[in-house]
Amino acid sequence: MAKQLNCGDVGFDCQAQFNGETEEEVMAQAAEHARSEHGMSDSDLQEHEGAIRGAITDV
Ligand SMILES: [Zn+2]
Repeated sequence: MAKQLNCGDVGFDCQAQFNGETEEEVMAQAAEHARSEHGMSDSDLQEHEGAIRGAITDV
């Protein structure tokens, strides 16, 4: 089953959407996006990792 994450579901006012075959694939895209578009640091990402993973849905 494929995985999907909407950036807006994590709390950002943002239309970005990430799709992947695995949760790890989606997380990698989301992390890259969060760093470049939302200025999140690695420690920010670690702090919010649980919430981000929780927002991933099966599609
Ligand atoms: Zn975003």
